[in-house]
Amino acid sequence: MERYHDLNELIADGGATCKLCGQKMLRADGCTWPGVYSRGVYYKRIRYGEEEFSWPDEHCPDCGAKLGHFHHINCDVEECPICGGQLIGCDCGLEYTDDAEPPIS
Ligand SMILES: [Zn+2]
Ligand SMILES: [Zn+2]
Ligand SMILES: [Zn+2]
Repeated sequence: MERYHDLNELIADGGATCKLCGQKMLRADGCTWPGVYSRGVYYKRIRYGEEEFSWPDEHCPDCGAKLGHFHHINCDVEECPICGGQLIGCDCGLEYTDDAEPPIS
């Protein structure tokens, strides 16, 4: 955890506020936004613990989401449901959405 010089302060304050769900990242169990859109197509987000790479911690090391919950915005750990890469670094053009999965017509 060398990235934050003020990590202890950040934790004491509950962490950064997630712009998606409005919760303090380190106080919430996880994010409430279930999906992403890419070019008009809906994809379910990958929850913490469902990544290809299994993380040893009960909480996401980046955004603090608990196992089985969604990551918060711009989490380093969240996997892209399309390419399997890092969601914030891939080229799939994903946008977060709180829409439920659209019904299959
Ligand atoms: Zn969130
Ligand atoms: Zn995360
Ligand atoms: Zn991708």
